[in-house]
Amino acid sequence: MTQLKQLRRYGIFNAKVPRYTSYPPANHFTDQVGPADQAEWLRAIPDGTSVSLYVHIPFCKRLCWFCACRTQGTSTLRPVEAYIETLLKEIDLVRANLSGRVSLSRLHLGGGTPTILTPDLMARLLDKVFGAFDVGPAFEFSVEIDPTEASKALLDTLLAYGMNRASIGVQDFAPRVQQAIGRLQSFDQTSDVVQHLRSGKLDSLNMDLLYGLPYQTEESLSISLQEVLSLQPDRLALYGYAHVPWMSKRQVLIDESALPGPEARFALSELAQILLTLDGFEQIGFDHFARSGDGLSKAKASGRLHRNFQGYTDDAAEVLIGLGASAISKFPQGYSQNHPGTAKYQAAVEAETLAGSRGHSLSDADRWIASAIEQLMCGFAIDIKQLHAKFPAFVPMISETLAQLAGAFPDGVDLGDDRLSVKAGFEPLVRILAGQLDVFQTTQTAHSSAI
Ligand code: SF4
Repeated sequence: MTQLKQLRRYGIFNAKVPRYTSYPPANHFTDQVGPADQAEWLRAIPDGTSVSLYVHIPFCKRLCWFCACRTQGTSTLRPVEAYIETLLKEIDLVRANLSGRVSLSRLHLGGGTPTILTPDLMARLLDKVFGAFDVGPAFEFSVEIDPTEASKALLDTLLAYGMNRASIGVQDFAPRVQQAIGRLQSFDQTSDVVQHLRSGKLDSLNMDLLYGLPYQTEESLSISLQEVLSLQPDRLALYGYAHVPWMSKRQVLIDESALPGPEARFALSELAQILLTLDGFEQIGFDHFARSGDGLSKAKASGRLHRNFQGYTDDAAEVLIGLGASAISKFPQGYSQNHPGTAKYQAAVEAETLAGSRGHSLSDADRWIASAIEQLMCGFAIDIKQLHAKFPAFVPMISETLAQLAGAFPDGVDLGDDRLSVKAGFEPLVRILAGQLDVFQTTQTAHSSAI
């Protein structure tokens, strides 16, 4: 049997599985965790701890049809200004709940469109952040930049405040594809922003690409990739387009009949991987690529690669504080997510309460599964000895679960005494394999295709 046939037999073309940026995935969070837990977990952070900070800006000037991000369209700055006022208050609230000072290992501004802010608004936000939190020794400051919305003045403001990593969403440069997904962004516009960023002290440029878009062909994707590579990114994220119109209403505007089928999607993803590898990129996990010498490559080589809500990261901080509507915080004790809607989020903060509305308190059983899934997603292998040493009470359960996994995927997985590893060529199965460990996964409908 060919490898493709085996992958098909294991469900690669019809499985719907989470991307496992957390375990359990956020759709299993409940209202059993609220602001009181968030306050307790913030208070428990020891003085001087290194933390990551994520700030969510849920506004865009236009809503691209393909995008499933939680964001709202606005043609005026008024709601953005009001939201920033709330963010400033939330920073005070979070700060007041900490028992000591913390230092930032990472600051990431995401959305939505963080570059919708004016330079003055951005400066107010960043002054508040850097006033409230210390900056750690290997601090990285990254921002999601929309080249169609970012003014030079705003980019200069970000660079002046120390932004050293930028992430630009490209998706695909082919005009026909861009029209079909409701996002027009020319190569020249993108190149102009890249050149401007390069003139500042930018250490790393990331670009996001999508495969599986309407009208995308192997030829059009190859041309787009060549254009992207000419901009010399240091990292690339290659995501499969998730068509979930029952969750993201604006996706009904996308012509389903123009979407490539599962096998064509697989071929597009394989082609992109081959072209990127030929160009010298190293594959990181299942959907990222990095130049050698980049932090992600080094983390992969030294076993320090992690997975968080932004995807793969070399950030080792155990605490991630999420600010803004829908932002998720991660603590050693569990996850806390702010109210998803801006109105409820703003009402909570204006009432001087933390905005956590749901989450998950981690049990030890969750922790061993989370560790096993993160190892699989980052290195396509599970160190069984390490799991046994960390979770001695679960040794029988770990052994039984991994034996079942290997038994269900005999061609795709090798199981030894100390290690379970995904066989070469079966890496695309990794989300399906992780799903087998996930005791929360009861429905497939809420997730994206495995490929
Ligand atoms: S792709 Fe970016 S600009 Fe478009 S709707 Fe999504 S977050 Fe907004």
